[in-house]
Amino acid sequence: MKYCSHCGAQIDDQAEICIHCGCRVARTQSGGGYSAISIVGFVLAFIFPLAGLVVSIVANNSAKKAEDEGSRNFSKYGIIISAVIMILEVVIVVLYICLVIGMVAASMGMWAAAA
Ligand SMILES: [Zn+2]
Repeated sequence: MKYCSHCGAQIDDQAEICIHCGCRVARTQSGGGYSAISIVGFVLAFIFPLAGLVVSIVANNSAKKAEDEGSRNFSKYGIIISAVIMILEVVIVVLYICLVIGMVAASMGMWAAAA
């Protein structure tokens, strides 16, 4: 739930016009645009997941303060994508290390067999 910036009444998140005073409450989301920082966080999520995560969290907090629901939801995707890509990168690195250890162990096994 969010609050009308004109009369302070509690209104639906999706509402663009306050049902209590009739004032328009939607600001940035009426244009369908997202805050620049939330877009930066989303793009960074794919390139530098850690930076994307940090920027998306900052974007999420500033969107929360600005009552910008669209940017807030968009920055959430940045956070989720950053986290997923970071986990995937960790899995790939772990698999790579296992592969290298496996190869080293195999070649050591061959030496042991030859000796
Ligand atoms: Zn109102």
